[in-house]
Amino acid sequence: MSKKYVYLFSEGNANMRELLGGKGANLAEMTNIGLPVPQGFTITTEACTQYYEDGRKISPEIQAEIMEYITKMEGITGKKFGDLENPLLVSVRSGARASMPGMMDTILNLGLNEDVVEVMAKKSGNPRWAWDCYRRFIQMYSDVVMEVGKKYFEQLIDQMKEARGVTQDVELTAEDLKELAGQFKAEYKSKIGTDFPTDPKEQLMGAVQAVFRSWDNPRANVYRRDNDIPYSWGTAVNVQSMAFGNMGDDCGTGVAFTRNPATGEKKLFGEFLTNAQGEDVVAGVRTPMPISQMAEKFPEAFAQFQNVCQLLENHYHDMQDMEFTVENGKLYMLQTRNGKRTPAAALKIACDLVDEGMIDEKQAVAMIDPRSLDTLLHPQFDAEVLKKTPVIGSALAASPGAACGKIVFTADDAKAWAERGEKVVLVRLETSPEDIEGMKAAQGILTVRGGMTSHAAVVARGMGTCCVSGFGAIKMDEENKCFELGGKVFHEGDWLSLDGSTGKIYDGAIPTVDASIGGEFGRVMGWADKYRRLKVRTNADTPHDAAQARTFGAEGIGLCRTEHMFFDEDRIPAIREMICSDTVEQREKALAKLEPMQQGDFEGIYEAMEGLPVTIRFLDPPLHEFVPTEEDDIEKLAADMGKTVTEIKAIIAGLHEFNPMMGHRGCRLAVTYPEIAAMQTRAVIKAALNVQAKHPDWNMVPEIMIPLVGEVKELKYVKSVVVETADKLIKEAGSDMKYLVGTMIEIPRAALTADEIAKQADFFSFGTNDLTQMTFGFSRDDAGKFLDAYYDRKIYENDPFAKLDQTGVGRLVDMACKLGRKTNPDLHLGICGEHGGDPSSVEFCHRTGLDYVSCSPFRVPIARLAAAQAAIKDAQ
Ligand code: PEP
Ligand code: MG
Repeated sequence: MSKKYVYLFSEGNANMRELLGGKGANLAEMTNIGLPVPQGFTITTEACTQYYEDGRKISPEIQAEIMEYITKMEGITGKKFGDLENPLLVSVRSGARASMPGMMDTILNLGLNEDVVEVMAKKSGNPRWAWDCYRRFIQMYSDVVMEVGKKYFEQLIDQMKEARGVTQDVELTAEDLKELAGQFKAEYKSKIGTDFPTDPKEQLMGAVQAVFRSWDNPRANVYRRDNDIPYSWGTAVNVQSMAFGNMGDDCGTGVAFTRNPATGEKKLFGEFLTNAQGEDVVAGVRTPMPISQMAEKFPEAFAQFQNVCQLLENHYHDMQDMEFTVENGKLYMLQTRNGKRTPAAALKIACDLVDEGMIDEKQAVAMIDPRSLDTLLHPQFDAEVLKKTPVIGSALAASPGAACGKIVFTADDAKAWAERGEKVVLVRLETSPEDIEGMKAAQGILTVRGGMTSHAAVVARGMGTCCVSGFGAIKMDEENKCFELGGKVFHEGDWLSLDGSTGKIYDGAIPTVDASIGGEFGRVMGWADKYRRLKVRTNADTPHDAAQARTFGAEGIGLCRTEHMFFDEDRIPAIREMICSDTVEQREKALAKLEPMQQGDFEGIYEAMEGLPVTIRFLDPPLHEFVPTEEDDIEKLAADMGKTVTEIKAIIAGLHEFNPMMGHRGCRLAVTYPEIAAMQTRAVIKAALNVQAKHPDWNMVPEIMIPLVGEVKELKYVKSVVVETADKLIKEAGSDMKYLVGTMIEIPRAALTADEIAKQADFFSFGTNDLTQMTFGFSRDDAGKFLDAYYDRKIYENDPFAKLDQTGVGRLVDMACKLGRKTNPDLHLGICGEHGGDPSSVEFCHRTGLDYVSCSPFRVPIARLAAAQAAIKDAQ
């Protein structure tokens, strides 16, 4: 049998997300549980994939199947497509497997043409409604399908309102709207060159194609990359018969959440607009009323809606985000999905659902996006300075957090300014999906129009970016890049501060302070710790970072990059002396100056970690990074060392490398200058002995890690220096302290020969930054320049330096683990590349059987949660 590409809502269910997309699956589920859903069908995600396989064409077979379902829909609704007696109008909306609120390709009232609208106007006795539907359809179709651009139509509406002396769309009459529809069609013809399509079938295929096409638009591609959504999934298309919220004052449309998406409070939250259609609420054309007022306007529909909310929450065991329409007092459900929420709300909702007995701890852990925790850990305004700073206005607290930056007025400027290192606040009349990259680049977003469910609010919350919306008090002049408030003009580049948690706006820059966490965060983290198997360590090079990571739950240090300690201003002269030494004696003299400093560093870190394991990685970077480049510094070094400037310059020239990343770094330094390894060993061991003496109850087992090993004999050689030095010191101290010597696996050859290397190593730590670089053969510093082209061409969907390439690099990791454990069953395995804090990579580490992941301090909670989710998924 040939593949089925179209499903009636009555043929699907909630488990068919992959095929029907989230929206389609939930429309089917709502149909199954008997909720009032205007009927229709879903064109599957496979049809979308097929569209791309067929060279961006909807095949005749799929077109025929779609039309077959239109006939079925006609049977169900008793209406007919393009009919003059009883016309069927439909909405066409996208719906991917995972919700992608940035895409928003929706077309309403499809099926209308000049003849149908006349009949509808006459038969309904409501010509205003009929013409309102038609002008909306022309507007949306032109924008979404033909990409004419909304603004031309908005200008025509504004002109019409001005000519009629009104301010609101609803004040325009049937005649006005009819005239507008005519103007819109003329505009369409002037831009496209042909007449606006009148055949409903042509309209429908155009709309379906536009939704498929939207899967590959730039904003969708960016959204997918940020949210780990594979390109291969495709989007489904939902074709649904229209329910009309714009037929008069006993009609309306709304968006609501069963709980507050900003705070998590268990209270219906949403907005409603009478005599309006879907997109009005979110587009910010008119400011909607709070959902509670709906109770007064439409008591029956509201009571029914409240029941639906309860039913849907109980059904999905999660907070729901719903769209609905009231047509002549009757409620219709258009959509439900698990609602997007702020990270703080996500934690509160998860805890409340556990307390309400709706879900268990594991489900609570599984429902939180680990990446979202990041925003909870980030700075807030300094409360003291905040108190003293005058508030210049207040609007909707759309997405929490503190933002402080220079004002910019376009998304492009936001991106460009951020790229050159400026902090910006994006100020817009309203945002639309094209603004997504600019919104991402901004510290915060301020909009003049729009409510809590506006595009700006929804998208900012998803991103965890601070947003204040609906700030109607300002007089905006986007053209001249300025706005006026209370007599003061704010220009591009002026500082502005926003508090997305209170909705307050401040003139100037307010410093921020670190976030404090607790309460529900601690509870969820506690559950995560209960269910995870992987340990979570941190990458930290200072006692401050180590202490920070401890507060976030780090269970040790997986990577302490010692070269970061050599760069300090008071140490750099000694380092330079060490590098420019001609003899071992000279070098040892320089090293002797460094040793106490290193030892002090290590003692500080050991203290901060309170006896937890600490892996210290020996010096890694190429030596030329340390040598002076300024004439003054060169002269000073020459004087300090009793050498001539020419001699120093010759030494520096000799250190030049064509490809330093592949050059004299890592264990190669220790092979060339074993005295460096000996010095670092002394510093590690003496620090550990001292700290052990101070804290007899701690069990200090220093871990020394040799970087960039590719051949077992390299490790064997450096290890011999370490062991000789360490054993002597431990013996002299009369101690029996144990220590470990391990290596990083970051060169493909090391992974390939891991069985050999494991014989010499107590542990492996996968340095996936270098391993990625060397496996792909492109530089971690330069890849950014060309990776965009790879994303555009779908060669890569993600940055392999951020998200582990499980197919290639992952295979090396997996192989090295297996080989290593074969020859050394006690081998301890971890990862310390950037991937250690990326949720999908953490899941890979769990599956591959590593013992721990190590990541930067702020990502420790993310890794804890991701590790728990991996374990829970694994157990299922
Ligand atoms: C790595 O290569 O993954 C690593 C952690 O080391 P570095 O980033 O210091 O090269
Ligand atoms: Mg490395």
